[in-house]
Amino acid sequence: MQHPLGTFLSVLANCPLFMHPSTSFQFLHTQNTQPTDQPTREAILANPGFGRHYSDHMVSIAWETDKAWHACGVSPYAPLVLDPASLVLHYAQAVFEGLKAYRHADGSIWTFRPRVNAQRFSRSAERLGLPELPEDLFIQSLRELVQADQAWVPNAAESSLYLRPFMIANENSLSVRGADKVAYYVIGSPAGPYFSSGVTPVPIWVSTERTRAARGGTGYAKCAGNYAGSLAPLKEARKNGCPQVLFLDSEHGEYLEELGGMNIFIVQKDGSLITPALSDSILPGVTRASIIELAHAEGREVQERAIGLTEVREGLASKQITEIFACGTAALIFPISVLKSEHFAYGNESNFAGPVTLVLRKQLIDIQYGFAPDAHNWMVRLV
Ligand SMILES: *Cc1c(COP(=O)(O)O)cnc(C)c1O
Repeated sequence: MQHPLGTFLSVLANCPLFMHPSTSFQFLHTQNTQPTDQPTREAILANPGFGRHYSDHMVSIAWETDKAWHACGVSPYAPLVLDPASLVLHYAQAVFEGLKAYRHADGSIWTFRPRVNAQRFSRSAERLGLPELPEDLFIQSLRELVQADQAWVPNAAESSLYLRPFMIANENSLSVRGADKVAYYVIGSPAGPYFSSGVTPVPIWVSTERTRAARGGTGYAKCAGNYAGSLAPLKEARKNGCPQVLFLDSEHGEYLEELGGMNIFIVQKDGSLITPALSDSILPGVTRASIIELAHAEGREVQERAIGLTEVREGLASKQITEIFACGTAALIFPISVLKSEHFAYGNESNFAGPVTLVLRKQLIDIQYGFAPDAHNWMVRLV
């Protein structure tokens, strides 16, 4: 719950790590005295869309080379003040995460495998020359925000509060080097179902000229720059009626890598799955990893290996390949009807969502929303 005004001042220590060697950090709570009024919030939660509205508070934590992580706080959601010479604005020293808070039928609020996100956040930070945030502090930061803004977690089907932790270099300097001053934030944005009228397959644009990541690069890190590089191909995709882009490997321009923000799976006619093997040019999705475990648990074979466009073309033609889907936290699982480029179209625009795609999707939803037992111990309670 939000702390009453009187208690803020008594919280003097702002999470000095040396004073809290265990798992709990002191957060200074500053309540938003002008929160969104209830009718407006309810109208937003009835139709939140994605990434359009934000909850009343945000988390911020500071870091400096000599001070480690300090000044942990939950405060009113507000614009950041950045010096025009902040390193992040020039050299894109920024990483982020994405996960969701789900409300269960009894009102409790949970999130899905946050430690995996915390560990990935550290790997992303390392790659970008940013400091690593301790795993427990990452998880506590989510809990602090969701506790303050629990009214922002929707209870409609397939709705959630999307949590966006991110870290930026906010040192003022134009000299090219890792920052000595960094900030971490978490904001929350209510999210509705990706498919409002049934799970329908979507066409995907294959970027045959431009890639997203290359060997030795930052592809495995969830960093802002990877997204910047995917936006011109995304514009091209939209022009061609496709909501998302599939990127190929940078060396041969043949092997499937992933979408701009989602991993990809192929289902074969025997019910087995294939997904591109992880490498330093593929982002290791939590959804991807979970689908592999769910598939194994029901006895499906999963191959993590290279898949070429040629194999996709021939497999679709011979019906060896029966379904293709993409997966990630935001959209969960969405079926793909066609892979298109200016040179080809593999698949069929009128395809329905396949049975394996739908079963895996339902299994994930049932675990996340508490409709099925959490056999893998993936859920972590926040409130
Ligand atoms: C975040 C992301 C994914 C999906 O990861 P999840 O953990 O499943 O949400 C896939 N690819 C890229 C490039 C991403 O940034």
